[in-house]
Amino acid sequence: MKDTYQSLCELQPIGRKLFQQFLQASKPQYMATAEFLEDLSDWSFAEDETKEKAKRRILTKFCRLESRGFLSGVTGKDAERCKHLSDKNIDEIVLQWKEYEKQRISDKYFYEFRTLGKGGFGEVCAVQVRHTGHMYACKKLDKRRLKKKRGEKMALLEKQILEKVNSLFIVNLAYAYDNKTHLCLVMDLMNGGDLKFHIYELGERGICMERVVYYSAQITAGILHLHSMDIVYRDMKPENVLLDGKGQCRLSDLGLAMELPKGKMICQKAGTAGYMAPEILRQEYYRMSVDWWALGCSIYEMVAARLPFKDFREKVQNEEVTRRTLEDECRFEHKRFDAPTKDIIRRLLNKSWSIASVVGLVQPPWVPKANVVYAKNVDKFGDTSDVQHIELDAKDEEFFKEFSTGAVPIQWQKEMIDSGVFDELNDCKLNQLTLTSRTCTIL
Ligand code: ADP
Ligand code: MG
Repeated sequence: MKDTYQSLCELQPIGRKLFQQFLQASKPQYMATAEFLEDLSDWSFAEDETKEKAKRRILTKFCRLESRGFLSGVTGKDAERCKHLSDKNIDEIVLQWKEYEKQRISDKYFYEFRTLGKGGFGEVCAVQVRHTGHMYACKKLDKRRLKKKRGEKMALLEKQILEKVNSLFIVNLAYAYDNKTHLCLVMDLMNGGDLKFHIYELGERGICMERVVYYSAQITAGILHLHSMDIVYRDMKPENVLLDGKGQCRLSDLGLAMELPKGKMICQKAGTAGYMAPEILRQEYYRMSVDWWALGCSIYEMVAARLPFKDFREKVQNEEVTRRTLEDECRFEHKRFDAPTKDIIRRLLNKSWSIASVVGLVQPPWVPKANVVYAKNVDKFGDTSDVQHIELDAKDEEFFKEFSTGAVPIQWQKEMIDSGVFDELNDCKLNQLTLTSRTCTIL
């Protein structure tokens, strides 16, 4: 129930608005707190120059004793009441809104504006919601072209994945509907162009390091968001990274993305030539590692305006790109590569990702010697003369008892298995020696 209220009153924007209206009408004593939280969240999105002003305003409004909006703190009875907030009326209104949310969407819901780009199954154009004025991008997928190229399953997967994600670093889906000829995905409008365009078409080729670092961080946040939901992106490349009007970037085109529940691996060949990881090219099993390889290629491309294994405008067969990816060393000839950039790219372009490394079993770069103690002054505690006069009493004993709870179950069980004791005991069991708690104690 608590989660339901949190989702309704905090995370869902309409629920949040309604909750505030409800406070205003019937619980005015909480209004200041609600307003404070709202102002604070606006503040966190404000531009730097307005942030200072907003901060001063928030401090004056909520943190001065004489101010009407002073936050005296929600304590005691009020805090109790907060926990039991439930109002029939508000439930009904929320339900009405949820019904409204389910309304059928058609072309009439939007005004259509200019074309923004072309995709494999149709164009992407700017649209505006008639009754709110909100601008979006609409990716249209031609139904007949989808059928001819057998792209239906992919389109549905893209929609289902887009629906699940909600991140500042991914182009999010607002509506999915269809008309006679097209399936339409209505998404965040990104009108600053894609990174491929910025690398090759604007001014000197390549992107300056300050921007490369900024975009790489946002891309990484987007990839991590997908991975946290067990989704592998599989089409990481500058062309799929779009900029919005403020200059922030997001990942788009989740057409190749795939959900891989824990433990599941795939070996399907998917991606774009030049960005595909060795494990895909060798058709081995893989999970999320392939996105980090492609990020390495993309960072390289932002800096050098070419790919690690394919030069700009080089006419070369995919087989040759594959061969180079698998066999050649990545070289950094462009003057813009500095040491940290080379280092991060080398780490991402790790040819030896394998099932072992996916599950975190990469060989450590340094291993301590078994017979060396790596600590200063190891004999410092050998001398007990300074504590000889300390007597231990019953209270101390009690504390020691509380402390010494014995084996920690998971670690202990692992140890039993790794050391072979488990197998041994199991064998004994077969010989009529049952595994009793006493046996364990003896162990
Ligand atoms: P496909 O999956 O067919 O490759 P994309 O999703 O990559 O289609 O979209 C095709 C092109 O449309 C992109 O390269 C980009 O130029 C433009 N585009 C896609 N999504 C958006 C968006 N949300 N905002 C603005 N332009 C977009
Ligand atoms: Mg695309």
